[in-house]
Amino acid sequence: MFSPMPQPSTVPSGVVESMFHRLVSRRARVREVEPVGDAFRLITLVGEDLENRRWVPGDMIQIGFAGLAGRAYTPLSFDPRTGTTTFLGYVHGHGIASSWLASATIGEQLFLVGPRSALDLDAVNRPMIFFGDETSLGTAAAIRATPGGMREVAFSFEVESAEASRVALERIGVMSGVTLTTREPEDRHLDRIESDLTRALRAAPQTRCIFTGKASSIQRLYKAVRRAGISAKQVTNVAYWEPGRKGFSGVQR
Ligand SMILES: Cc1cc2nc3c(=O)[nH]c(=O)nc-3n(C[C@H](O)[C@H](O)[C@H](O)COP(=O)(O)OP(=O)(O)OC[C@H]3O[C@@H](n4cnc5c(N)ncnc54)[C@H](O)[C@@H]3O)c2cc1C
Repeated sequence: MFSPMPQPSTVPSGVVESMFHRLVSRRARVREVEPVGDAFRLITLVGEDLENRRWVPGDMIQIGFAGLAGRAYTPLSFDPRTGTTTFLGYVHGHGIASSWLASATIGEQLFLVGPRSALDLDAVNRPMIFFGDETSLGTAAAIRATPGGMREVAFSFEVESAEASRVALERIGVMSGVTLTTREPEDRHLDRIESDLTRALRAAPQTRCIFTGKASSIQRLYKAVRRAGISAKQVTNVAYWEPGRKGFSGVQR
């Protein structure tokens, strides 16, 4: 038997919604909730519905909330034998998923869709530069499960608190080749990230770039690397969020 449905909002709120969830979603239960500082939660889900599912590192799962809202998270590990998956959620402070993360409890039942395609990290050659922010730390850790592992991968993250993100990265085992840049007003910090990036690409022009996280930062870096002569084929962009927009689902181009 499942434990009682949790509060606040992973609970389907009506008959139609419940039917929808049962038809298209998989059921899972929260097995572990580990606060990593105030800003992150390492969440482990388990469920028979997740057993024997295919997972490619970089895939997302979409957790269902009341009102048929889905929110995307990136497993940093997925074990199809036991139907167990772990992701790192950023408690950014607004929104149903962020609020849920802050209060998630062991034993809670939820509905989710996926794993489904968002970013195919298995297909990315080395050397690789991976850019993102707090929402991308789990994706960075998922690179470990690719055939190339962490070999020749450099990470660059724009973050609110370098200290909080460093602690989270250490917890999920992403420690070498990491540069953390603290956000500044009017995105001035991106000047530094952009010049470091273009310098690295001039030194190794065959490098593959993966840009994740905030949509406007990705756009800016994409333009910069294209100006630096990097071909569009070498760059994969997947926006994870954009100010003022709810529930991004991820676009790969
Ligand atoms: C493919 C994919 C994979 C993702 N993987 C992860 C992951 O592994 N871990 C993770 O933490 N997130 C991940 N995200 C991002 C996450 O889905 C979004 O941050 C999502 O908006 C959170 O939902 P919410 O209900 O808290 O906020 P929403 O209701 O979606 O948004 C409410 C408000 O908060 C703003 N907002 C959303 N995210 C942030 C943020 N990071 N900082 C500041 N403001 C924000 C929105 O712009 C909006 O104004 C992923 C997104 C995609 C598309």
